[in-house]
Amino acid sequence: MPDPMPDPIRPKPGIMDIALYQGGAAHLPGQAEALKLSSNENPFGPSERAREAFARAVHSLHRYPSTDHAALRAAIGEVHGLDPARIVCGAGSDEVIGLLCHAYAGPGDAVLFTEHGFLMYRIYAQAAGATPVSVPERARRIDVDAILAACTGATRLVFIANPSNPTGTMIDAGEVARLAEGLPERAILVLDGAYADYVAGFDGGAALATTRPNVFMTRTFSKIYGLGGLRIGWGYGPRAIVDVLNRIRGPFNLSTAQLATAEAAVRDQDHVAWCRTENARLRGWLSASLAESGVPSDPSQANFILARFADPAEAEACDAHLKAQGLIVRRVGGYGLPDCLRITIGDEASCRRVAHAVAQFKGSSAGGQR
Ligand SMILES: *Cc1c(COP(=O)(O)O)cnc(C)c1O
Repeated sequence: MPDPMPDPIRPKPGIMDIALYQGGAAHLPGQAEALKLSSNENPFGPSERAREAFARAVHSLHRYPSTDHAALRAAIGEVHGLDPARIVCGAGSDEVIGLLCHAYAGPGDAVLFTEHGFLMYRIYAQAAGATPVSVPERARRIDVDAILAACTGATRLVFIANPSNPTGTMIDAGEVARLAEGLPERAILVLDGAYADYVAGFDGGAALATTRPNVFMTRTFSKIYGLGGLRIGWGYGPRAIVDVLNRIRGPFNLSTAQLATAEAAVRDQDHVAWCRTENARLRGWLSASLAESGVPSDPSQANFILARFADPAEAEACDAHLKAQGLIVRRVGGYGLPDCLRITIGDEASCRRVAHAVAQFKGSSAGGQR
């Protein structure tokens, strides 16, 4: 048969290069009680006040939601000490990241992120037709000098998550400021603060996004707020950038239920503080337990740890052992870390199950020695 005629209906260049995003697995075949520790979800879920607000939203489902998100922006502004006029809300921070790429990058432009950075930066850069550029890290830490060296006149956006995912490591405020100062004139530094709430006293980069015209911060309700299923995030930065994003976002991008639930959630900072403290305690315990079993991890500032194994084969074997015990963690080969497993910090019982299973695995694979 001759080759078919080329299909005239084709997407824009770049779209077909996008690799489909794979979320963390949620189920194991044949295991009804599997424990999901693969997507950095808060094991305690949202605050009671957020749950109540969500339930109340059922009474107004026939009404269109607010287009300007004024009440939610006011609540975020009050809690974080930020000007609500400089806040934009989206369906997860993913949407805000997407809006930034669509508004500021296109064919011929470069979007930078780091070697082990969040996969959505690449996907949205490609969706916008821009060129994704991955910059090396140094021992699983963001390397500011390497990013600055990779910048060119074509660089429009530089994404870093701080703390980073899947490494859990952080760079300090001085390094972030040095990065912002060193970028080419037309580039925006985007500070992804998805895990900022896990770091006591850390503003996620808000101060820098307040004072610098080229710094923008994104935040989410998916992690410490325990609302990943509801899809709410926000961005904060220069008014000029917020104005641009508002022009291209859907006017009804957030539902009444999303807006009301997020507002109640952000006003309940007691719940956030409790989750932060509990996460830090369990994270310290789990990383020490794994280290005792011969599985090191970098000091994590987030709600997961990146467990390091001897090689990819050992990481794969441990993943299989954990699965057999009903424990779902994240393989991170797609993030350039095939010898690691990313393990979300669950509640205390979950952490004990993980520590026990890893000790068992190392015990058996090392011929009984520990
Ligand atoms: C989880 C995560 C997000 C949050 O995405 P949402 O769309 O808000 O759920 C953003 N950035 C990083 C690095 C993450 O790990």
